[in-house]
Amino acid sequence: MRRVLPKYKGRGRFVQLVALHKKITDDALAMRKDVESVLTPVSQRRYSGPSMYIAPFLSRLNEVTIPFKVHNELIEDISVDPAGLELTAQWTPIWLKTKPRRQVDIHLEWHVHPRGRRCGVQTEDWQRRHFYFWSYLMHELAHRHQNNHRSDDVDAQKFIPTADEDDDVRDLQMYLGDFDEVEAYAHDIALEMVVWFPTLGYRAAFSQVKKFRHNLVDGSYPIFAVAFDKAPKHPAMVLLRKKIQGWYRIMDTHRNIYRTLQLGPL
Ligand SMILES: [Zn+2]
Repeated sequence: MRRVLPKYKGRGRFVQLVALHKKITDDALAMRKDVESVLTPVSQRRYSGPSMYIAPFLSRLNEVTIPFKVHNELIEDISVDPAGLELTAQWTPIWLKTKPRRQVDIHLEWHVHPRGRRCGVQTEDWQRRHFYFWSYLMHELAHRHQNNHRSDDVDAQKFIPTADEDDDVRDLQMYLGDFDEVEAYAHDIALEMVVWFPTLGYRAAFSQVKKFRHNLVDGSYPIFAVAFDKAPKHPAMVLLRKKIQGWYRIMDTHRNIYRTLQLGPL
C-alpha cells in the first residue's frame, strides 16, 4: 500500500521531534522486559477466576517501574463503575516531590470504585490495559524529556484560550493550549493511528481516529478536539495537526519499536 503523507514544514522542529521520540522510546524499551514480566496478556494465566485484585498487582508492577522513576497508585474513585478500571497519569518535576519517593516523576493512577478493587483478566482487558499503560507512560515520558530540554528560566509556551462564555471549556483550552500538551497529545493520537490502524495510510488512519468511537475507550483526538469545537482554526488545533503529521512520520518508520512493545489494535 502506498502511504500518502502531507508535506511537513519546519525542519528544525522536526529534528527536535525525532530526538524526543528517541528519548521516549529508549526509556520505554529499557523498561519493557521488566514491565512485561507483570503486565502482559500472558499474565492472566497467573490469576484464577474472571478478575483479580488490583492492589497486589500494582505492588508487583511498582517493583519493576519504580527503578525507572514511575509509580503506580491505586485511587478509590466513586465515579468509576464498580466492575471497571480507569487510568490517569501525570508528570511532576522531581524537585516538587517529597521524600521518600523523591526520584519518582511519573505517576500512573489506577482508579477503581471503593467497592470494586478488582479488574477483569480476559485477554481483551489485558490488551487495553497494556496499550494504555504504554500510551499514558509515553505521554508522560514526553513531558519528562520536554522539560529536560528546557533551561530553568523558560516556561512552556501557551496559547490564549478563545472560549469566553463557558468556564469549563476555557479551563480545558487553557490546559490543552500548552505547547507541551499539544505535542504530547499529538504523540498519543499518532500512536493510536499507527497501532490501531496498522494497514491504513496517514489520511485514512487520521480520518479513523478523528471519528473514533468505542464503548470502553475514548480516542485521544476527540478528547482534545472537544475543547476547540467552536474554534477549529484555533492555533492549538493547527499545531496539533502539524505535530500529528510529524509524530506519525517518525512512528511509521519505527513500527518495529511498537511491535516490540506488543502494541496492537484493541
Ligand atoms: Zn500531558
